[in-house]
Amino acid sequence: MKLTAENYHSCIANYQFCSVSQYKDFCGSYGKKGCEKTALAKIAGKYEEKKTTALLVGGYVDAYFEGTLDKYKQENQECFKKDGGLKAGYIKANGIIERVTQDRVFMRYMSGQKQVIMTADLFGVPFKIKMDSYLPGQAIVDLKIVESIRKAKWTGDSAPMDFIEYWGYDIQGAVYQKVVEILTGDKLPFFIAAATKEEATDFEVIRIPQTKLDAALSAVKTNLPRIQRLKAKQEEPTACETCEYCRQTKVLSGPIWEHDIIFDI
Ligand SMILES: [Zn+2]
Repeated sequence: MKLTAENYHSCIANYQFCSVSQYKDFCGSYGKKGCEKTALAKIAGKYEEKKTTALLVGGYVDAYFEGTLDKYKQENQECFKKDGGLKAGYIKANGIIERVTQDRVFMRYMSGQKQVIMTADLFGVPFKIKMDSYLPGQAIVDLKIVESIRKAKWTGDSAPMDFIEYWGYDIQGAVYQKVVEILTGDKLPFFIAAATKEEATDFEVIRIPQTKLDAALSAVKTNLPRIQRLKAKQEEPTACETCEYCRQTKVLSGPIWEHDIIFDI
């Protein structure tokens, strides 16, 4: 199957190829617990996560950099109020775009080829990736619109961590780097070009250290066989019983301990 912008997110593409978001659906990140049952339901087209405003605003800024903002607005009428004006979140997005486009370094990293799709076999599993800004032979850059760059996050009794670790962007970097390396022979550094929705937009280009990418890739290698067996229906998925999808069918088997309330990783 040849992947294009049109079929990249289709059920058949999600069945044939693993992706970073699919991997995180199965295995989770610190910020969001994985759920095998929901991950499989998504692949089967039985469940779709609601498009949150946060997600749409990110897509809006991506579309700006890709040069497809008009198309994006047409396809996402949620951007507009009844009177035809842009909703607050998108006015903010315009502010972010205006701010970061003034910065030479930010724009240099965002000057690569946009939304580049590649596929490769990763540890025997077909993977698909879509890069926000690809500078062949130089760098892979992913654009993230976030609440805050500096604010520490944590879960359960973990140590505080930054938003990159919390949302598993190191996993994304590791997979993108490996796929590009398999196809081109170049092992490129991975950067997050981040900008915030704060009153005064903060922004940085952040490099993820190679040791972190290596560790993330090794976790991917460990977890992929189980994902493949689940997708091939050779093993039964477990349900997390706490996500939106599971909550619709969950049945209590008895009480839980208080210390299990806060999600644990
Ligand atoms: Zn679940």
